[in-house]
Amino acid sequence: MSFLPDGGCAIVGGPLQAACGGTLSDGTIVKYISTRGAAPALGFEDVLLTGLARDGGLYLPEKWPELTREEIAGLAGKSYQDVAVRIMKPYVGGEIPDADLAAIITDAYATFRHRVVTPLVQVGPSDWILELFHGPTLAFKDVAMQVLSRLMDRALSRRGRNATIVGATSGDTGGAAIEAFRGRDAIDIFMLFPEGRVSDVQRRQMTTPTEANVHTIAIQGTFDDCQNMVKALFNDLPFRDRLGLAGVNSINWARLMAQIVYYFTSAVALGAPSRTVSYSVPTGNFGDILAGYAAKRMGLPIDRLVIATNVNDILTRMLETGRYESREVAATFSPSMDIQISSNFERLLFELTGRHADRVNSLMRDLTTRGGFALTQGEHGQLKEGFDAERTDEAATLATIRDLEAATGYLADPHTAVAVSAARRVARRPDVPMITLSTAHPAKFPDAIRRAVGHVPPEPETVTRQRTLPERVTVLPNDVAAVAQFVSSRARAGRG
Ligand SMILES: *Cc1c(COP(=O)(O)O)cnc(C)c1O
Repeated sequence: MSFLPDGGCAIVGGPLQAACGGTLSDGTIVKYISTRGAAPALGFEDVLLTGLARDGGLYLPEKWPELTREEIAGLAGKSYQDVAVRIMKPYVGGEIPDADLAAIITDAYATFRHRVVTPLVQVGPSDWILELFHGPTLAFKDVAMQVLSRLMDRALSRRGRNATIVGATSGDTGGAAIEAFRGRDAIDIFMLFPEGRVSDVQRRQMTTPTEANVHTIAIQGTFDDCQNMVKALFNDLPFRDRLGLAGVNSINWARLMAQIVYYFTSAVALGAPSRTVSYSVPTGNFGDILAGYAAKRMGLPIDRLVIATNVNDILTRMLETGRYESREVAATFSPSMDIQISSNFERLLFELTGRHADRVNSLMRDLTTRGGFALTQGEHGQLKEGFDAERTDEAATLATIRDLEAATGYLADPHTAVAVSAARRVARRPDVPMITLSTAHPAKFPDAIRRAVGHVPPEPETVTRQRTLPERVTVLPNDVAAVAQFVSSRARAGRG
């Protein structure tokens, strides 16, 4: 690894300047290690291009970078982009010059429709909503994906390589990924979604792009089936190497990294580090809330992290019982949370076990062979120290959309409503603001909104435009061999 000549930081003036030019404040370079302990430690760009570790684990920084209280205080009044540079910088470990990182971040968030990128809205004396949906596909996935695609593009072109992205989506990831990667020269993207289980708006976002590098696949199965097939393709090492497979699901560390930023901007806007805040997070694959955990480890004063689930409540049950047991998936109004295995939970497990890779391996083996595992009392206790969890059923989701609109005029999408509902029920300190993450624009889920309040939100112009465009999709059975064959026959990488 080399240090790039000077760190010419693009941010002019202000406390950020002190942080420009290198690595962690104590001079260490962040390396990434796998939760399963048997894959090589990698630098940032390798982790970015790899996604899932070769031992089946997920990458985490060997050491969490920390910000001092003064550094956090110094973020007040900074733009989202400037804060993003400060937060991501230690994670890229000197591999990307500051000026390039700043340019990527500026370009990524120029696609957003709001100048503060992720604005806060007050809905109660101590209750706030953090709107993460102002990106091109109206979902919070854009926040990370727009950065990820630019980072990958840069890394690949520097290496003169092609890559094949294969991903699974329960709805929002697919559109956001396709939007971020469409038309890129060095990357083909294959996106699997469960047929009939995403909304019309979500489907059109994936099926209307016309670029030749975009391949949208409807799988006759559930999201977990899609995700398992993607995992199987990644675990087929010859296939993976031949096609240069790269992951963009929230198992990709770079996505989590980009999501840490809005925890900092929102907490600082409400008075951190002098004030402590809590978050309620609509949770599926546990990526978003893990970014909150990372922010806390970096020194942000966070009191509670509330895991908000719909009736697909593996995480809520685990908080209650200490047992992680997968069950059937039920289709809900919040389809992006309709999953029963939360991949990123493995990263938290690694932390709860004291970074004990052998223990993580044995728990993950139990999950595969017995459909579940049990935490020790110590692990369960640690989990409950920082996290709460609440389940919201379908009726309560609609009732929350209705009440919130009646009380404030604010129209929340069903995913956001699940988290608003959780925030209302959890035990709280009145002096600690509760920030609920809003992960989708209500216009993406008009059917649920109509059922809740009797009218639909005004349709954003991008959605109207897509309605009239022809759709392009390939339907495949829930069969990994068929998917592998399709990807091999279409991908440009590996044709050599
Ligand atoms: C992806 C998604 C979620 C879940 O986020 P995770 O990081 O998978 O926990 C929640 N809401 C919406 C709208 C999403 O797209």
